[in-house]
Amino acid sequence: MERKRSRTAFEKHTVPCPHCGKAVLDHMTQCPFCSGKLEPAGYRPMDEKKRRRIQIIANVIGFAAAAAVILWLIFGR
Ligand SMILES: [Zn+2]
Repeated sequence: MERKRSRTAFEKHTVPCPHCGKAVLDHMTQCPFCSGKLEPAGYRPMDEKKRRRIQIIANVIGFAAAAAVILWLIFGR
């Protein structure tokens, strides 16, 4: 039962390519089969919050990396 549900969830994330008709993931911007341009159906403005959170995490990681380099320059030699 669980297996069937997860499969359905996967199928929900696929859309037929408008150019070649093959199933492609809905977040893709280019068809992997025919290289045709795709409209990413998975994109919604509501994802802005999630995207912002990811960007904050990326900034923290970037800051930590920069701090590590600075500390290495000061104390590492
Ligand atoms: Zn295609």
